Amino acid sequence: MPSRRSAYDYVIVGAGSAGCVLANRLTEDRDTTVLLVEAGGRDLNPFIHMPAGIAKLVGDRRIDWQFYTEPERQLAGRRLYWPRGRVLGGSSSINAMCYTRGAAADYDEWAAMGLTQWGYRNVLPYFRKAERHVGGASEYHGDHGPLVVEDLRYRNPLSTVFVEAAAASGMPRNDDFNGVRQEGFGYYQVTQNRGRRCSAATAYLHPVRKRPNLTVITRATTTRVLVERGRAVGIEYRHRGQTHSVHVEREVLLAAGAVSSPQLLMLSGIGPPAELEVWDIPVAAALNSVGENLQDHLDFCTLQKCTQPITYDFGILGELAVGLRYLATRSGPGVSNVAEAGGFARSPLAPDERADLQFHFVPAQLDDHGRNRLPGHGYTLHVCVLRPESRGRILLRSASVADPPRIEANYLSDERDLAQLVSGVRLSREILAAAPFDPYRGAEVFPGSGAQTDQELAAVIREKAETIYHPVGTCRMGIDADSVVDAELRVRGIERLRVIDASVMPSLIGGNTNAPTIMIAEKIADILRGRTPEGQSQAPIFAP
Ligand SMILES: Cc1cc2nc3c(=O)[nH]c(=O)nc-3n(C[C@H](O)[C@H](O)[C@H](O)COP(=O)(O)OP(=O)(O)OC[C@H]3O[C@@H](n4cnc5c(N)ncnc54)[C@H](O)[C@@H]3O)c2cc1C
Repeated sequence: MPSRRSAYDYVIVGAGSAGCVLANRLTEDRDTTVLLVEAGGRDLNPFIHMPAGIAKLVGDRRIDWQFYTEPERQLAGRRLYWPRGRVLGGSSSINAMCYTRGAAADYDEWAAMGLTQWGYRNVLPYFRKAERHVGGASEYHGDHGPLVVEDLRYRNPLSTVFVEAAAASGMPRNDDFNGVRQEGFGYYQVTQNRGRRCSAATAYLHPVRKRPNLTVITRATTTRVLVERGRAVGIEYRHRGQTHSVHVEREVLLAAGAVSSPQLLMLSGIGPPAELEVWDIPVAAALNSVGENLQDHLDFCTLQKCTQPITYDFGILGELAVGLRYLATRSGPGVSNVAEAGGFARSPLAPDERADLQFHFVPAQLDDHGRNRLPGHGYTLHVCVLRPESRGRILLRSASVADPPRIEANYLSDERDLAQLVSGVRLSREILAAAPFDPYRGAEVFPGSGAQTDQELAAVIREKAETIYHPVGTCRMGIDADSVVDAELRVRGIERLRVIDASVMPSLIGGNTNAPTIMIAEKIADILRGRTPEGQSQAPIFAP
């Protein structure tokens, strides 16, 4: 690693999905110096790299921030567990590896907000630039990027049963959720490279770690952005019990994620004055929308017992065998991302042409993020509402980064979200009741046979719904003066400071959020390097 300097052209805070992309792309220019500061450690844990190891990652406080929401009023006062990656690669090192981008119309919606450079035609080139699609290049896919996308090398037989059951329920088949159309059911493609997790760190950071113009510091928690006379001049961070500051020649780039980026802005005096006053933080820029506009995918798991012992509900010996087979052959259940198949569907309540529900099928019993292990065998069908109307917010818990921010997710505060989720659970049941599951179907555990009416289903949702890990929107991009960042992700009212991560999405896209976050970072890296955006896509755009 190059020796540390007192100043860098760019300081990037957070080595997650976005931060790793930025570190790579900015240091392609040899004359540009970059410091990447990450609160977590290196990604040495082998369970990060063996896909099925995901079950061992959630809840490991060495690599997971383990956030919790405040008690959620519409969810029986429960505090929901929010895992977020705290390690090189950030959440891409602990995520489920499903590669989806959302609907084309999601980005056209951003363009319709005045963010004209973020329409689908503008962002598709960056999805393609990021991607190395093992199936080859096409109008929708790239095959030269760092992020390897492949089909799963092993699937549980029940995932095939699920895809057949969706078809038997009248759902269209879809072999590429990121192609011509999103709606339909099939297998997820995954961010894996020959059966190993392809996180943002393995894709973008590790291959360039030796560049002399890139310095990476791990286990270094940024405490605030240093602001002088309306410009960001550097950051302050804690490393090995000491406080350091480092100066920046060009810009500070916050890529700490949808929970921590707004927290860091507020700790630096950039945020709602009323909130800053509570914590005696001097105001550097009054920005009421910092932390607001929080959106997430709330999810319900329909869980069914399986009458045959073929699911991934292994005991310790079974897990050992899976691990050994994976190490020896890079095959078998060890390569499974667990959410192997799924789909996108329109509920009767869908407000427009886009699919409003997403499904993830798991051939194992999944309860409480896998933290509650149930005996026996079973399978689980997740459903979530893709574009919730409910909005939450992030607030400070104290004036210190050491205290996790307060997350008020405010799920189901808009009743439309609950109605959509109820209809999603009904659709889950319909698919699981289809004939292909007949040889396997045991008793329904959740929502349980006692829940039949809409009211009964709503009650179980309030008791059991959880996040499916896609918080965005807390440093909203917009063209209005109230937005946190402008269309090039510059923080309003502070020079030389940008936020580049999932927090800038003005509205939640209809899909998993890793690839979109990587796309955002790819696009801004081009802007920072003064490159003209890559040629606009000529791919036929199908709505949605
Ligand atoms: C369990 C789980 C499963 C998921 N499954 C999928 C999936 O299958 N497919 C998909 O597309 N998406 C999935 N996601 C979502 C996706 O991974 C995230 O949306 C994406 O990684 C967010 O990227 P980011 O750059 O905004 O933040 P992150 O990747 O979370 O990166 C933020 C980084 O900043 C660091 N940081 C925070 N605060 C500080 C500080 N003060 N100082 C220094 N560093 C700091 C963090 O440690 C972290 O490394 C999942 C997420 C989780 C948690």
